Amino acid sequence: MIDKQAVARALREIGLLLELKGENKFRARAYETGARAVDELREDLGALVDEKRLTSVAGIGPALAATIAEIWSTGRSQQLEKLRAEMPKGALELAEVPGLSLKKIQQLAAAIGVDSVAALKRACEEGRVAGIKGFGAKTQQKILDGIARWERRDDRVLLIDALADAEPLRLYLAAHPSVKRIELAGSLRRWRETAKDADFLALSDSPEELINRLINYPQAVRVVERQERKVIVRLSDGFYVELHVVAAQEEVGPALVRLTGSPAHVARLEAIARERDVALDEPAPDERAVYARLGMAYVAPELREDRGEIEAALDGSVPQDLIELGDIRGMTHCHTTYSDGKASIEEMARAAEAMGMQYMTITDHSPAAHYAGGVTLDRLKQQWDEIARVQENVKVRLLRGTESDILEDGALDYPDAVLEKFDVIIASIHSRMKMDEATMTRRLVNAMRQPIFKIWGHALGRLVMRRDPFACRVEEVLDAVAESRAAIEINGDPHRLDLAPEHAQAARARGIKFVVSTDAHSTDNLHYLRYGVHTARRGWIRRGDVLNALSADDFLRAVKPAQ
Ligand SMILES: [Zn+2]
Ligand SMILES: [Zn+2]
Repeated sequence: MIDKQAVARALREIGLLLELKGENKFRARAYETGARAVDELREDLGALVDEKRLTSVAGIGPALAATIAEIWSTGRSQQLEKLRAEMPKGALELAEVPGLSLKKIQQLAAAIGVDSVAALKRACEEGRVAGIKGFGAKTQQKILDGIARWERRDDRVLLIDALADAEPLRLYLAAHPSVKRIELAGSLRRWRETAKDADFLALSDSPEELINRLINYPQAVRVVERQERKVIVRLSDGFYVELHVVAAQEEVGPALVRLTGSPAHVARLEAIARERDVALDEPAPDERAVYARLGMAYVAPELREDRGEIEAALDGSVPQDLIELGDIRGMTHCHTTYSDGKASIEEMARAAEAMGMQYMTITDHSPAAHYAGGVTLDRLKQQWDEIARVQENVKVRLLRGTESDILEDGALDYPDAVLEKFDVIIASIHSRMKMDEATMTRRLVNAMRQPIFKIWGHALGRLVMRRDPFACRVEEVLDAVAESRAAIEINGDPHRLDLAPEHAQAARARGIKFVVSTDAHSTDNLHYLRYGVHTARRGWIRRGDVLNALSADDFLRAVKPAQ
């Protein structure tokens, strides 16, 4: 006996298979709409079929009505069976893996008979996918990463991957003639290290047309929800996009405030609005005016996490001079071909110069990092000669530095007499990361207390979504930094973003200074700078807290290794 749930399920499957096949999206979605209409029926489905009244239900047209009647009376759908036969076995399940297109699924089925996610995972692990024409080791690894996300039911992606989806999409939406303004909101505007979706707010007098434009975006594969002024779509790589449309300029400020803050931040604002007997969504010319109406100073997006910014905005102490990209004058923590970087000293120098930098620190790995081609003493001499030669041809000032390993006991790599000759030293942990909390705390405290000035590099060694921070008593290490000749790096590599904001805030409160760096291993990586800057802002770091916002001379004085 067929029930209405079974009918809805069949309709959904038809819609998904049509979508996967690349059929007209509106046609595919009609089945999803029909499935929902059947799910939500209050009347008896059998009676509607018998009395041929199905088309009186909103969302059910004549074609759908025929399909529903067929399933209801025969328990089958010829269309569904035909679609199933056209598709490789397991295609629907496989299509849920982020990044797997129908074309790839068909290739996998044809080449090695993959018919489920489990079979695909096995094939990847055995290296069989890399051997398929057009796949390769890189694609195989990407598929494995996608399967891992699918298994975790975890749709979060790295900030950099989210922006790779969101930034081109923003341009695509902005090109619509009705759009007067479009802003990225949500956690991406707060520069959180991971994101599960991108939220956009658009000012447009044609919400319906704009929503259709998003639905027709080539990478949009499914409409999750559609309302008059809001739509959620899923992109082919599994990322979600939510678009909100407002019609009047005075709605933008309140809507941006609501769409940008963390749920906790917005809840606090609502409570304050209630106390003051105003509404959060009342028209306002901009976000600043929304906060002002609540008796609060403006809160930068990166701070809207309910981590003290509400209180600080009420008493006027919330920082208004957070570090900005344009404040950075020196590119710090850069690798070259002397260790594991991909570009030469000259290539890195010219790229930094093109970004308007006044100085750059060349900081390749020290000998202990032999796996990364750490620079031995004789090659160090060679590197310094090359720096001097390149310096004659470039305006950006090149500083001789090192990323010295913090050894197991907290000593730095290279003898003291050598360390003293550098212009700048970054001190980082690259090995023995799994020490227990007490041993790691001692190691780091020892390192910070070395008499030589050092910048603590990628402090807690985390890799976003891949490796947890070291076990250590962070507050104790921060106390040691505050008492020593040391500063802390905010590492802009989007896989690191380390020191994390909550600890940076605690460090700042101790008067510790920072360097915002890229840890660049190529000229492209220099653009990681913006991730460093926004992560620093999330940690409440001001312009005056950042050493590489200083002029070259002042920076050199501040970080000089020997006293
Ligand atoms: Zn490093
Ligand atoms: Zn590095």
